[in-house]
Amino acid sequence: MSGSLGGLSALVTGGGTGIGQALAMALAGAGAAVAICGRREAPLLETRAAIEAAGGRCAHHVLDVADEAAAGRLAAACPDLDIVVNNAGVSPLQPWADVEPEAFRTVLATNLEAPFRIIQAVAPGMLARGFGRIVNITSIYGLVGGNPRCYPGLEWDIPAYVASKFALTGLTRHLAIRFAPHGVTVNAIAPGPIETALSAAKLTPPVREAITAAIPAGRLGAPADLAAAVLFLASRDAGFVTGQVVTVDGGWTAW
Ligand code: NDP
Repeated sequence: MSGSLGGLSALVTGGGTGIGQALAMALAGAGAAVAICGRREAPLLETRAAIEAAGGRCAHHVLDVADEAAAGRLAAACPDLDIVVNNAGVSPLQPWADVEPEAFRTVLATNLEAPFRIIQAVAPGMLARGFGRIVNITSIYGLVGGNPRCYPGLEWDIPAYVASKFALTGLTRHLAIRFAPHGVTVNAIAPGPIETALSAAKLTPPVREAITAAIPAGRLGAPADLAAAVLFLASRDAGFVTGQVVTVDGGWTAW
C-alpha cells in the first residue's frame, strides 16, 4: 500500500475507541497494516470497518492486555511488527486513602506492566530486523501531578494512574537507551485532557470550565489532535528521535 508507512505493520492496543481509534486510523491512512486489540469486540469491529471503508488494512484481537498470556498472543498473531502503540489504559477515580491493593494493581497491570510485556514480546524481532518504532501513550499526569482544583465538585483522585504513567515515562527512557544502537526507537506521547469515553464521566460543566481555563489553547483536545505526533514518531525518518516525550496538551504543562 502507498503512503509514508507503506509496507509497515502496526499494533495499537485499545484501538477500538477514543485516542487508540484515532491513532489506528491515522497509521492505516498512512499505509500501515494495522492490528488493534481490546476487551470488547464491538468497538474493535467499528474501528476495523472505518479503516477498511477508507481503503486500509486492519485485523482485530479480543483480549485483556492485563492477562499474562496477552503479550504472547499478540506477538504470535501479529508477527514482524514494525510499530507498536501501547495505548490501552484505565483511569478510575480512586481517593488515595481508600485505594485497595487489588485496585492499585489492576491500574498498574493495565497501564504499565502490559506495555512492558508487549515490548518484551515484540522487541526481539524488531532488534533482530534492525527497525522498530515503539510509542507509549502516557499522559501529562506522567509528567506532573494532578491538581484537584481543576476538577471542582468531583471527588477527584487518581494516584495509581499517575504512578503508572510516571513509571511508563521512565520505562520509555530506559528502553530507548537499550534499543538505540539497533534501530528501534521508544518514545512517548503525553496527551493533555482529550474528549473520550475515559474522560467523559469527569467532564462535568464546572470541570470543563476549570480545565479549559488551565489550557492556554483554550479548549480540550480531540483524539485526532494526537495523530500528527504518532505519525512522526512512527515514521522511517524519525530514527534519531528516541527516549522523548511528545506532549500534546494545548500548553497545559508549559506554565
Ligand atoms: P478510552 O477509554 O476511550 O480508550 C481506552 C481503550 O483501551 C479502550 O478501547 C479499551 O477497550 C482499551 N482497554 C482498556 N483496558 C484494557 C485492557 N485491560 N485490555 C485491553 N484493552 C483495554 O480512553 P482514551 O482513548 O482516552 O485513552 C487512551 C489512552 O490515552 C490511555 O492510556 C489513557 O491513559 C491515555 N490518556 C487519555 C487522556 C484523556 O484525556 N482522554 C489524557 C491522557 C492520557 P475495552 O474497554 O474494550 O478493553
